[in-house]
Amino acid sequence: MKLLDGKKILISGVANQKSIAWAIAKCLHDAGGQLAFLCLPSNGRRVKKLAQQLCSDIVIECDVRNDSQIEQAFKSVDSAFQSELHTLVHSIAYANIAELGGEFLKVSREGWGLALEISAYSLVAFSRYARPLMNNAGGGSIIALTYSGGERVVPGYNIMGVAKAALNMSISYLAYDLGPENIRVNGISSGPIITMSSMMVEDFNNALELTSKHSPMLRNISAEEVGNSALYLASDLSSGLTGEIIHVDSGVSILMAPSKAHPTPMER
Ligand code: NAD
Repeated sequence: MKLLDGKKILISGVANQKSIAWAIAKCLHDAGGQLAFLCLPSNGRRVKKLAQQLCSDIVIECDVRNDSQIEQAFKSVDSAFQSELHTLVHSIAYANIAELGGEFLKVSREGWGLALEISAYSLVAFSRYARPLMNNAGGGSIIALTYSGGERVVPGYNIMGVAKAALNMSISYLAYDLGPENIRVNGISSGPIITMSSMMVEDFNNALELTSKHSPMLRNISAEEVGNSALYLASDLSSGLTGEIIHVDSGVSILMAPSKAHPTPMER
């Protein structure tokens, strides 16, 4: 018996094999989960090929800026999964590249709205549609990907930091609303990982270097490690946990701004 046997799982945010959502999908599939994928229409063909590797032919195209596409996407989930859903993974973020560097001050009204709509509002909209399906399943687990740039300043992360702060509070409010229905809502704050989206952040290499040189564990994390934490949150092992943000980041977020390299065991 595997941890996720019989569990119906919707994964959003796979763009390619480097996507954190893809590492999560592999982990949840290995644990016995039955997967459906929600992706941007422009990624549809690529995601269909990837989904086949995990025995899934359920790939639903949806641009989260469009309410009717979200509604239609969840109708497709409803029919593919016989009106039940146990786990929803939200791994979606976007901001104008011009606003992911330099001074935060220059953020435009349009860029602000776009980043928050795609990266934070979509979690609320997804949760609204997932709710009846999770009720039919006797409860559920909603998991969103966040970053410590939503808790403190990470130079260059700018508007995405504001969007992640909104996402983090949305996790809390959703957890409050849905808790009585045994629907848990949690976040994973991942350390920096090279993906299509992260490469758009101006100082991203700096974040990688900082984690490898200063974090308690003196290394960066892998997408598979995020996948393993998602497995915990998707499974009944985390049945008492909601409204929580788990930091999978080698511990770097416990530090104040590090100014000198953390000594290795050899140097201590
Ligand atoms: P990624 O580019 O692989 O994933 C981002 C996904 O968002 C893509 O699949 C993209 O198609 C999707 N997306 C963007 N706009 C969309 C829209 N309008 N409608 C539907 N989908 C849309 O990059 P990733 O790094 O795997 O990002 C996944 C999540 O992890 C994001 O929330 C990101 O902020 C978060 N995260 C990433 C890192 C990192 O270092 N890579 C660290 C912490 C948190």
